[in-house]
Amino acid sequence: MTPDTPQSDAPRFDGPLAESWIRAIAAAVEKERSRLTDLDSAIGDGDHGSNLQRGFTAVLTALEGLRPADPGAVLTKTGTTLVSKVGGASGPLYGKAFRAIGAALPGPADPATLAEALAAGLDAVRLLGKADPGDKTIVDAWTPAVAAFRTAAAAGAPLPEAAAAAADAAERGARDTVPLQARKGRASYLGERSIGHQDPGATSTALIFRTLAETLTT
Ligand code: ADP
Ligand code: MG
Repeated sequence: MTPDTPQSDAPRFDGPLAESWIRAIAAAVEKERSRLTDLDSAIGDGDHGSNLQRGFTAVLTALEGLRPADPGAVLTKTGTTLVSKVGGASGPLYGKAFRAIGAALPGPADPATLAEALAAGLDAVRLLGKADPGDKTIVDAWTPAVAAFRTAAAAGAPLPEAAAAAADAAERGARDTVPLQARKGRASYLGERSIGHQDPGATSTALIFRTLAETLTT
């Protein structure tokens, strides 16, 4: 960033980018469906991949005809649809998260604003699910992702760079769930037998952050 290219001229996270992000999540969920299902078969009931696929397929339909003038409308619609279409724990959790992100984005966002919106998404997950970091859930990927996004944004990084740092952090967070014992959700019923497996929800959160980075980079 030089004085000739002020921050205000840098690309912002707008409605079309928000829609591209959601479409990329739907494609990634489709591609990774069996991996998510296998992870959930090991410590849950094997439906995480199909839950998300059903949810994001419905989201694509819901977004038809929505003119994505602002990112908030796209993400709020995404969240509302996930809440209503996904029965598993992940539907309400991701649904409320996307609604909170949408509510925090009234217009095109710079990196610092997007960081705070993603933090609002995490707050929504924690308010509903009452999980702390270390409980082997979505929170274990989302928390380091928000921290990395915030740090990068505060250092003046543009959107693609901040999102890439967040995606790397989310993937590390997901991998770091392997040795944890689940204390929330279905996997907690397994007690110590949940140890040694990567959490499916943390894994899908890493996908969500990776697709954001890819959307902002291309
Ligand atoms: P279900 O557990 O109802 O079958 P899914 O299989 O779709 O729903 O989602 C399971 C994932 O949801 C888990 O891997 C975990 O990451 C996440 N999860 C479950 N409970 C919570 C919670 N209270 N807070 C955050 N994430 C949770
Ligand atoms: Mg499940």
